[in-house]
Amino acid sequence: MELYKIDSDLDMQQSTEIYERKIYDLMQLIEICKGLNSTLIDSNKLIESILLTCMGQMQLIKAGIFLKKDIDQNVFILHRNYKGFELDHTTEYEIEGDSSFIYFLENNFKCYELIELVDIFDDSPVINTMRLVSPSLIIPLKGKDKLNGIIVLGERINNETFTPDEKEYLMHIASLAGIAIHNAYLYEMATTDMMTKLKSHHFFQTSLIEEREKAVRNNTALSLIMFDIDHFKDFNDKHGHVCGDIVLKNVGKKILEKIRQIDIASRYGGEEFVVILPETGIEEAHIIAERIRVSIEELRVEYSGQIMSITLSGGVTQFLPYLDKDNLTFINRADKALYLSKERGRNRTTIL
Ligand code: GH3
Ligand code: MG
Ligand code: MG
Repeated sequence: MELYKIDSDLDMQQSTEIYERKIYDLMQLIEICKGLNSTLIDSNKLIESILLTCMGQMQLIKAGIFLKKDIDQNVFILHRNYKGFELDHTTEYEIEGDSSFIYFLENNFKCYELIELVDIFDDSPVINTMRLVSPSLIIPLKGKDKLNGIIVLGERINNETFTPDEKEYLMHIASLAGIAIHNAYLYEMATTDMMTKLKSHHFFQTSLIEEREKAVRNNTALSLIMFDIDHFKDFNDKHGHVCGDIVLKNVGKKILEKIRQIDIASRYGGEEFVVILPETGIEEAHIIAERIRVSIEELRVEYSGQIMSITLSGGVTQFLPYLDKDNLTFINRADKALYLSKERGRNRTTIL
């Protein structure tokens, strides 16, 4: 009788420990969920948050994530924010979105050790890519039934393998991460002009309000550039609207290449672009505007066997807190400066 009591006490103690552990894990998952959902707008922060969560929870020294290369491209690429893996920075680690590997992960949704996938896919290009990264665990991510990412984890600090419970826990994190990535993707789609890949007009207006408030609050400079493509109508008239669209795409791409991550480049309308430059005074803004203008002047775009050159006119202005009580006065000044550039002969930038 006495022995039985000891046994049941021990059972009780073990059960309590298991439940306490489960409650702790669930609380952790709620915290992870809150963290991932609060980083919707900044996709870099979201990726950082997913990787650091996995690393912290599993005591890992290496973690990375494959995500869609671009919102309208069906290629996954190892995001540059990977941690710990010693990889060649000049190589792009890519996986085709329509490969059987992606299809397999989508339909056999669990985590895998590389060896399990090697058995299935032999020496396919995707396995060669994975071998270069050499992960100890591969975790698919899903948003709305479609695979939208793959987490790759490296060795653990204690060199231990993952237990089934840990794999299950990682799949819970993966479900939350997959939803967060899907939401970030929807947000990106809703705020991006798909033709130029710059931000939309509405996003620009909202960001300008925020940046004006930030500049007042922190007493920092803020500048704005407005560009308009010179004689853009000629591209449409001479070569057709498809040619005009290609010109717009190339200009958008070049502008994005020439600005910092904190700058916000948007398509204002038609063939007009705006760039918000936080923490930037007028002289520096003018240098940036010129850098963009020259890069477009030097750009050559091929269309239907013809090589075309493009030029831009720009207007540059700095935020004046005592005057610019709304977006309108600030934007109008940039617009006026732009039209001075047009009047003065185009392919130039003017400060006002
Ligand atoms: P300027 O040097 O004075 O700016 O001359 P411009 O020809 O660039 O200016 P204008 O405003 O006369 O023409 C702008 C043209 O841009 C008119 C419109 O048909 C064209 N446009 C606007 N949006 C698009 C677009 O999405 N695709 C194409 N292909 N054309 C567009
Ligand atoms: Mg125009
Ligand atoms: Mg124009």
